[in-house]
Amino acid sequence: MTVTMDTLVSLCKRRGFVFQSSEIYGGTGSCYDYGPLGVELKNNLKRLWWRDFVQSRPDMVGIDASILMHPSVWKASGHLDNFTDPMVDCRECKLRFRADDVDTRPWTHYCAATKGNRFTIPAGEPCSHCGARRTLCPDCGKGELTAPRQFNLMFKTFMGPVEEEASVAYLRPETAQAMFVNFENVLQSMRLKLPFGIAQAGRSFRNEITPGNFIFRTREFEQMEIEYFVNPRDTVEGRPADEYWHDRWIADCMAWFRRYGLREENLRLREHGQDELSHYSKRTVDIDYRFPIGWSELMGIANRTDFDLKQHAKFSGKSLTYFDEERKEHVVPYVVEPASGVDRALLAFLADAYAEEEVRGEKRVVLRFHPELAPVKVAILPLLKKREEIVKTAHGIRDALAKQWRVVYDDTAAIGRLYRRQDEVGTPYCVTVDVQTIGDSEKGEAGDGKVTIRDRDSMEQARVPIDALPGVFHDLLSGGAWAQVASRYPATT
Ligand code: ATP
Repeated sequence: MTVTMDTLVSLCKRRGFVFQSSEIYGGTGSCYDYGPLGVELKNNLKRLWWRDFVQSRPDMVGIDASILMHPSVWKASGHLDNFTDPMVDCRECKLRFRADDVDTRPWTHYCAATKGNRFTIPAGEPCSHCGARRTLCPDCGKGELTAPRQFNLMFKTFMGPVEEEASVAYLRPETAQAMFVNFENVLQSMRLKLPFGIAQAGRSFRNEITPGNFIFRTREFEQMEIEYFVNPRDTVEGRPADEYWHDRWIADCMAWFRRYGLREENLRLREHGQDELSHYSKRTVDIDYRFPIGWSELMGIANRTDFDLKQHAKFSGKSLTYFDEERKEHVVPYVVEPASGVDRALLAFLADAYAEEEVRGEKRVVLRFHPELAPVKVAILPLLKKREEIVKTAHGIRDALAKQWRVVYDDTAAIGRLYRRQDEVGTPYCVTVDVQTIGDSEKGEAGDGKVTIRDRDSMEQARVPIDALPGVFHDLLSGGAWAQVASRYPATT
């Protein structure tokens, strides 16, 4: 099913994933705060990306650079001169739009053919009464729009105690430049051989003219970027190394999104046309995702050639080359850049995980997160909270498992309700502790020391000895199949 953005926004707020920033003051335009579950999900996402693309690869290293960089960086990179969007303003209501965006939204029309009645007309369509197309402000429907003007998207600030004397600085609009300006430091300190990549995950800032669609486009966001340097003189499998690695990265990134749950039918590759390519790019391919707002860019993978290293060499006066031992020559490496956004990926994983089902006549909302992404891995639920021994055992299990994973304890509702709550935030497994676990001393019945694990997706149960739980969850949470656990520890009826 396709979930609407409104449904996701409301789930995110209700269940502590994402809140509007500074909400009690009326909110800050298009800024969002990650709540208790959101931060877990986001950390998991970044950790998996780091583990799979940095930690586990011999050809990758990471950095964590400062957000404020030398202003010359942005001159050299072209951001000061080129990182602009053409914008138009409404002369009447003063709203500002990206020039290329005005016709992608529904527009307001006061139709002369119907005595000036007000209509909201779908994006790009003419009025069905008078046949007119939009020329005025799409929002108020009255004001003329100004001619497009270039608007730089970088946030400017001042470095130093006295504003007038301080030097201008910019909040970085992408994380990528830090990899280029640290190229020599990383190369020398780590004694690397081409091809190799430098990765970084961190905040970026863009004064977007038309932010919106929840966390899809915001002014402060996080990126996960890789600059993968290759020797342009090398060939791999008979192809120029930069072209070979570009395709490898496209395939690896696609596989990564699929591995953690994005469905094939919601992913596609989009090749940039020649007219669309950035000035530095030899070829760019986007991975698009079918968001609730339609197909849009999830990440971009560009072949940036030697543009950035050459620019920084020119502006800094430092040589940024690699010595090719075999050919006994200095080369400026080419770079392939897989650039993704944390928030946008999180939105995609949320949308893809969302499902509504009917279970025994009742609606069940479930987030089918991959276990490694799920913000909470296991919930421990006592079946009877009045029985002290049950509660104590449940807390003990929580404390033991929480040494390794995010595990919660909840006894604030009846069991059916508790399951629904965990389904709605995507917790893959619930553990219930019941009378059978601890026995009944008054009746002289001994407990079996076992608990029930309930699987989120199949809703099947297994009966597992308490001391086997760490091992079982170790398997399940690292991708092990539920069916194996269910057959090894069948639930008794
Ligand atoms: P768009 O065309 O959507 O503005 P872009 O092509 O400018 O994006 P890049 O500069 O290639 O984006 O940045 C790489 C990734 O960073 C994007 O694919 C996206 O996931 C993320 N990103 C970029 N801008 C934003 C933003 N304003 N809010 C959230 N994520 C963003």
